[in-house]
Amino acid sequence: MDKQRDFVLRTIEERGVKFVRLWFTDVVGTLKSVALAPAEVEGAFTEGLGFDGSAIEGLTRAYESDLLAHPDPTTFQILPWRGEIDPTARMFCDITTPDGEPAVADPRNVLKRTLEKAAEAGFTFYTHPEIEFYLLQSARFGDGGPEPVDSAGYFDNVPGGTAHDFRRRAVRMLEDLGISVEFSHHEAGPGQNEIDLRYADALTMADNIMTFRTVVKEVAIEQGVYATFMPKPLAGHPGSGMHTHMSLFEGDANAFYEAGAQYQLSKTARKFIAGLLRHAPEISAVTNQFVNSYKRLWSGDEAPSYVSWGHNNRSALVRVPLYKPNKGQSARIEYRAIDSAANPYLAYSLMLAAGLKGIQEDYELPPEATEDVWSLTDAERKALGYEALPSNLDEAIRLMESSELAAETLGEQVFENVLRNKRQEWVGYRAQVTPWELRSNLELL
Ligand code: GLN
Ligand code: MG
Ligand code: MG
Ligand code: MG
Repeated sequence: MDKQRDFVLRTIEERGVKFVRLWFTDVVGTLKSVALAPAEVEGAFTEGLGFDGSAIEGLTRAYESDLLAHPDPTTFQILPWRGEIDPTARMFCDITTPDGEPAVADPRNVLKRTLEKAAEAGFTFYTHPEIEFYLLQSARFGDGGPEPVDSAGYFDNVPGGTAHDFRRRAVRMLEDLGISVEFSHHEAGPGQNEIDLRYADALTMADNIMTFRTVVKEVAIEQGVYATFMPKPLAGHPGSGMHTHMSLFEGDANAFYEAGAQYQLSKTARKFIAGLLRHAPEISAVTNQFVNSYKRLWSGDEAPSYVSWGHNNRSALVRVPLYKPNKGQSARIEYRAIDSAANPYLAYSLMLAAGLKGIQEDYELPPEATEDVWSLTDAERKALGYEALPSNLDEAIRLMESSELAAETLGEQVFENVLRNKRQEWVGYRAQVTPWELRSNLELL
């Protein structure tokens, strides 16, 4: 630890870093940042930096508002978009109370706690997300809604287009920040793009996702466009999912792999999937946390609406992707509900907890879905046991309210904070009279 702190302090000096940003997130996953003068960094390492936790959504109550941010030296990186002159760096922080106890409501701490539980069971949790987002002409929009930067589609090569330059620049910056990118391509929607990050342990990945969102927004601004991770910005076009591939390792061995088993899936993997399936509806208020998230889940366009799993079946909630048989280490499963606007720390905590519960309680995996789940009738789905995901945020909140898994994993404070925040959003939404209602009703009624 001390070595890492020394390395940071030395780098600040050698590179002439002028500002060091301390980063952490609130309960919905909004990035918070405070800039330190280089001379303050050593003190922040030893004592932490004090701030008013009650001003951060879902972090503390007003009567116990003093909190400390402790920078994690292993996350030190110079921010490439700030340029070479007067460089700026960042570190992610762990939040504690003034007496040094981890702040129970810090999302990063929630994930750390959940990872510890996995470690007690002998597992390390790896994830890799496919992050979809839209590039728009601007954050402003008229009656026609937001305007995408192009009208291209899946895997389209758009010569001279914004998307190309954008992805080049964004991928380069991510690599400069130590975040490896596996693929990037135009997605199905106009102006929609996807960038897939190379797998990492879930804590590193949650940090990486926070960085990723910032990089994508910064590069967009640099290129005169606007990037959004909103789950469904354009009615009639696909939403932006954050399909997440997951695996558990026991030491060096991928615990999801078993040579010769069906799809080379180990028993551990089957139980993990069973856990995800059983608990998916009650964790939706976190994996799909906005009113708008449910517009994505219920509009087709390859977003899952029902609970099922399948091999190579894109209507399934959990998909077992193809991988080369001699590459056992890459055995993994893909969770397709989570969207690009989720708080990665909390969502990954709940996804992991759901899977672990399946393992610990020996859940049985239901038969796989081999048909297109969307094209079945309700009666057929019922007969096959394909439960629906919540149809809106209100339903998701109600399911989470009675979820023991969510309460246990998030801890009482975060659990309450998430629910409070989401109820507020729902009440706000419920009070709206939308243009759609006016168009369909005003002249007729
Ligand atoms: N955009 C789709 C979703 O919302 C995913 C499309 C794909 O990558 N196959 O999940
Ligand atoms: Mg993809
Ligand atoms: Mg995709
Ligand atoms: Mg996918």
